[in-house]
Amino acid sequence: MNIQPLNSWITKGNEPLLIAGPCGAETEEQVLQTAKELSQINGIKLFRAGIWKPRTRPNAFEGVGEKGLEWLREVQKQFNLKTTVEVANANHTELALKHGVDALWIGARTTGNPFSVQEIADVLKGVDIPVFIKNPIHADMQLWLGAIERLSNSGITKLAAIHRGFHYAGKTKYRNKPLWEIAIELKTLLPELPIICDPSHISGNRELIPGVAQKALDLGMNGLMIESHIDPSVALSDAQQQLTPAALKQLLNELVYRQAFSPDPECLDKLHQFRNMIDEVDDELINVLKKRMNIIEQIGEYKKEKGITIFQLERWQEILRTRSQWAEKLGIPRAHTEKLCQLLHEESIRIQTEVMNKK
Ligand code: PEP
Ligand code: MN
Repeated sequence: MNIQPLNSWITKGNEPLLIAGPCGAETEEQVLQTAKELSQINGIKLFRAGIWKPRTRPNAFEGVGEKGLEWLREVQKQFNLKTTVEVANANHTELALKHGVDALWIGARTTGNPFSVQEIADVLKGVDIPVFIKNPIHADMQLWLGAIERLSNSGITKLAAIHRGFHYAGKTKYRNKPLWEIAIELKTLLPELPIICDPSHISGNRELIPGVAQKALDLGMNGLMIESHIDPSVALSDAQQQLTPAALKQLLNELVYRQAFSPDPECLDKLHQFRNMIDEVDDELINVLKKRMNIIEQIGEYKKEKGITIFQLERWQEILRTRSQWAEKLGIPRAHTEKLCQLLHEESIRIQTEVMNKK
């Protein structure tokens, strides 16, 4: 995939790309006042505002539509900020291009719909505009990748993903559970694709935003998209998760920015030493694992000979319970040990099944 790094078109060096602005454009005054204050914050490169809002129920605030694009034109002129809006169909995309919006984003609901994504990609054939693609609502990597590919196939090279969390049916303190491992998997599959984190839509409330933003930076994500409204208490959408420009400024000052790499020889040497230690421990771990597998083969043979079933519920419950207890005494979280035991047990069942099926 032909993807240009952020610092070839919008950022300098390794600085994170900061995108801020209201969830939705509501009035010209709200847009211009918010933009004015955000333009005074160091590092904010893109002003976001939803013009067409995808709302779950009709009669909620569905965005101001095309007239908001004129307000964004004023933002560009008066405050020298680049602008970005959400597009969900061909018509939105044509209008955004007509009104000179600088970048587009595809929302979570749209990424999950290949027809809409293709429609947008078709309008963008031969257009040199940056496009940000939010993850689909559900944790479906193929849908996210598919949308990225559709835009790439249209010739878009200024591409980035936005990680905005995922719908989660279980209990969670987040509006959308971060599932960081999915963002990490995307980075592993497409290392050249920048990933921006959207702590506002992950958190759903102001209190959780700093922790999510810091974690994103600690994981080496390439930027943040944070919703900011001049007066969040009267916002027509996502009021709970928007920060005033002043609060956003404070948050950006308090975040710790880390480098992916340090050229300092002492630091490189120290990291090298730690990594050698980890290599040795992992080598031991793999040998221990092999030893465990050998015993499992023997127990499988024995069960076969004696006509005993592979799965033994009580033994499995005992393993799960005792290992978690042993590990917890050493400060290893129970959940981690349980996950490991599940993996070991699955493999044990697989090996014993193979033994049983052997002629
Ligand atoms: C938004 O950015 O305001 C928005 C609607 O986000 P998402 O598509 O992530 O729900
Ligand atoms: Mn929003």
